[in-house]
Amino acid sequence: MSIQTNLQTIRERMNAACRRVNRNPEDVQLVAVSKTKPADMIEAAAAAGQSLFGENYVQEFLTKTEDVTVPVVWHFIGSLQSNKVKYLCGKVAMIHSVDRLSLAKEIDRQWGKSGETAQILIQVNLGQEESKSGTEEAALEDLVRKVAALPHIRICGLMALPPYLDDPEQVRPFFRRLRQLADMLAALNIPGVEMRELSMGMSHDFDVAIEEGATLVRVGSAIFGSRY
Ligand SMILES: *Cc1c(COP(=O)(O)O)cnc(C)c1O
Repeated sequence: MSIQTNLQTIRERMNAACRRVNRNPEDVQLVAVSKTKPADMIEAAAAAGQSLFGENYVQEFLTKTEDVTVPVVWHFIGSLQSNKVKYLCGKVAMIHSVDRLSLAKEIDRQWGKSGETAQILIQVNLGQEESKSGTEEAALEDLVRKVAALPHIRICGLMALPPYLDDPEQVRPFFRRLRQLADMLAALNIPGVEMRELSMGMSHDFDVAIEEGATLVRVGSAIFGSRY
């Protein structure tokens, strides 16, 4: 399958999911996850109308931004060490994976140097999985309040990477939970917190995520093929 055909199929599935729950397709953005994939595949996707890409690894991302010659928008979606934040500054439109105050403080410091405001999502560990990053639900409100108080950060919403389960229906409760947490936080009216974005859903479960309110779906292998 070509990248162009894959993108077309995914957009049709996204539209169909929106129709099922009466959502406006314009409220859901496709983040094409291009980790491990070469610049020419990104350019092929861009030629097919895809403008938003997600990357996971700082070093790989830096190389790619030099190689990709067409204008695209980048989101950083991978786990992030504080000492690498400085390389992302000015290059990414959003960071999806903020899960601790120390990381947020460094983003605030780096973006603040140029007087910019970083748009970020707070990553939540819904499955309470040891191996996954993300803040625990119990610590979420406290983290959101502290991060929101930083002057050069805007919290735009939440992100989650639920457990991989073969049947997407089994992931639905996790997506629903993230939506509930976002609604709960929105109701607190914390200055600097918007809760307009829900980053959830990947290649095998993005349809269900959209039905549950996703505004950013992060799709890699269904566009670019398997990574292994
Ligand atoms: C790799 C990755 C994805 C995309 O996964 P696919 O199953 O290839 O669609 C989405 N989100 C994150 C955080 C990832 O690391």
